[in-house]
Amino acid sequence: MRIAAATNNPNKILEIRKIIESHGIRDFEIESPNSLNVISDPNEDSDTLEGNARIKAISLFKKSGIPSFADDTGLFVEELAGKPGVHSARFASENANDSENRSLLLKLLKDKDNRKAYFETVICYISEKEELYFKGRCDGNISKVELGNKGFGYDSVFIPEGYTNTFAEIDSDLKNSISHRYKAVLNFVQWLKMNNQSIINP
Ligand code: IMP
Repeated sequence: MRIAAATNNPNKILEIRKIIESHGIRDFEIESPNSLNVISDPNEDSDTLEGNARIKAISLFKKSGIPSFADDTGLFVEELAGKPGVHSARFASENANDSENRSLLLKLLKDKDNRKAYFETVICYISEKEELYFKGRCDGNISKVELGNKGFGYDSVFIPEGYTNTFAEIDSDLKNSISHRYKAVLNFVQWLKMNNQSIINP
């Protein structure tokens, strides 16, 4: 079976492939817009993660003609009434970089005791006959200062529940086994396994 992922990020594709293989699913090809030679760059103007994942998955499905999926992630901070949420990538400004987004977050939470937050990832899968959503959530707290230099995005300010270090301090394999994205991909892969018997090796 061939399936298209709405990302050209080789690390994301590798992470998904690893999870798929660890579930005994073989003969399964994950394509990307690059490998399919298509350009899919729709305007992500929904105010929900589901909406933006759907916009990206539908766009790629129309361009590629094969079952397609897309993910969208946000960081939801309790003290900020769920912000930055769906706008996590553009929190500080329309063209903000990760560092500017983290700085604004720490500034808004300065002297605040409630630092509870969670990451959520939504995957939307679109085929001829299906439109499905798979979710993953990782709870934690926002640190007082940036800590660690691994990872990306908000990793250096997010301490997952049950740990004392930020995502940017812990081993990437550990992060990838507890993260929001991992849990969403796992739900997706479990569905693939249940519903596509033909692609599973005996
Ligand atoms: P996207 O939906 O993957 O583009 O992510 C939206 C925003 O959340 C961007 O600002 C990312 O940097 C941030 N983000 C997504 N996943 C993670 C993560 O695992 N750790 C830290 N930041 C993340």
